[in-house]
Amino acid sequence: MNWTDLTAHELHEALLKKKVSSRELVTAFFERIQSVETKTKAYLTLLQESALIQADQADASIAKGEAGILTGVPIALKDNLCTTGVQTTCASKILEGFISPYDATVVSRLRNAGAVFIGKTNLDEFAMGSSNENSAFDPTRNPWDLSRVPGGSSGGSAAAVAAGEAVFALGSDTGGSIRQPAAFCGLVGMKPTYGRVSRYGLVAFASSLDQIGPLTHDVTDAAIVLNVIAGDDEMDSTSVDLPVPDFRAGLPAEMAGVRIGIPKEYFIEGIDAEVGRAVEQAIETYRRQGAEIKDISLPHTPYAVATYYILATAEASSNLARYDGVRFGHRTSSAKDLMEMYMQSRSEGFGAEVKRRIMIGTHVLSSGYYDAYYKKGQQVRSLIKQDFDAAFESVDCILTPTTPTAAFEAGEKINDPLQMYLSDIFTISVNLAGLPALSMPCGFTEKGLPIACQLISRPFDEEGLFKTAYAFEQCHDYHQRRPQLG
Ligand code: GLN
Repeated sequence: MNWTDLTAHELHEALLKKKVSSRELVTAFFERIQSVETKTKAYLTLLQESALIQADQADASIAKGEAGILTGVPIALKDNLCTTGVQTTCASKILEGFISPYDATVVSRLRNAGAVFIGKTNLDEFAMGSSNENSAFDPTRNPWDLSRVPGGSSGGSAAAVAAGEAVFALGSDTGGSIRQPAAFCGLVGMKPTYGRVSRYGLVAFASSLDQIGPLTHDVTDAAIVLNVIAGDDEMDSTSVDLPVPDFRAGLPAEMAGVRIGIPKEYFIEGIDAEVGRAVEQAIETYRRQGAEIKDISLPHTPYAVATYYILATAEASSNLARYDGVRFGHRTSSAKDLMEMYMQSRSEGFGAEVKRRIMIGTHVLSSGYYDAYYKKGQQVRSLIKQDFDAAFESVDCILTPTTPTAAFEAGEKINDPLQMYLSDIFTISVNLAGLPALSMPCGFTEKGLPIACQLISRPFDEEGLFKTAYAFEQCHDYHQRRPQLG
């Protein structure tokens, strides 16, 4: 048996039955990394030494009968999550060498749960991108086809899990960065409701949109991980003090009587025929299980991408003002005075896409343009949210494709930012409305690339989302397939 192919819940059983130790698992994962990492480039930092120490601690708790569900399970963290004593770069030169003095809340919750940290994964610089090609370091490749992108910005996390270099990974999702790479790499990717998971220690991109969530092989693992990381946190005033149900306890669930909405605005021209067919089949599967399929409309959908690129860049321009060469990471060696030091450090430290967004964000917030862009963007955001509120009066869940196409070729969109921005056309509204959503595999193209569909639920109804996703997962084996990486 290949340990690196299994899920967290399967490995938990094996650990408890003493079929394998955490140390053996960690060793198996590093052997796998040794053989595939030069192809995938999923990681920016590997933590073999500390992982083995964590594994021995996990094995000791298992021996004492104190193991939790994630004890001893090897996992990966996106490199925009602060991790004590380890470099956190956001795949940016400006943060190269920055060692966080503290753990993000999600990181400390996983640490306390006994998970073992294999490494920090690659991303688009500051999570800005859809292909991983905006990383300041070597871009990650898709394990299903190395000439293609793994998606982004959590492309390193997605590739690491798909390639068997970690059991699961955490990503962050501002406009689709968990769901789109999960879709491209054949995984389950989950963005929780805004406020469900603490953002403390997540390096901020757009604070009103960012959420942390899991990339896993299956729905059960996603439910398990969300249970560990979710819940109120006094370090993040936007985290919400609501009880966190046991997401796994409700599985499996009946689909009879569940109302699933199909928004006509998401089945547009330009969506790839194979993707369209796979999503139609997913809808059919739900119908057969007794779900009630309803046509719905989310009329403000066409404005979502434009609205997002106003609001997200505005927030980013403000959040990224802190990288001034004084406090973190890179400082120029050639400045004559303070102003030049700020400017030179930022010019040298940030990549082209980050600079583009800082400039757009500064522009839309500038006096004279604020009302025309930023304020208008906030108003349209409310309309998008209201579309969903109205839809959820007559349906329990919404089903859409996650992406218009399967993974595209590396280099295909990198010189055309607008084309790249359209990769997230189906995921962005969810962040603007603060809703929970999950992407799951629903087929493969003829070339063998994963295809995915997205489920969207009411605020804080992650439970409903998992139930609906699980019902579909029971009907196929897409989540059990693994890429052949030679
Ligand atoms: N691709 C989108 C962007 O470039 C979303 C990124 C994200 O969710 N972090 O902004």
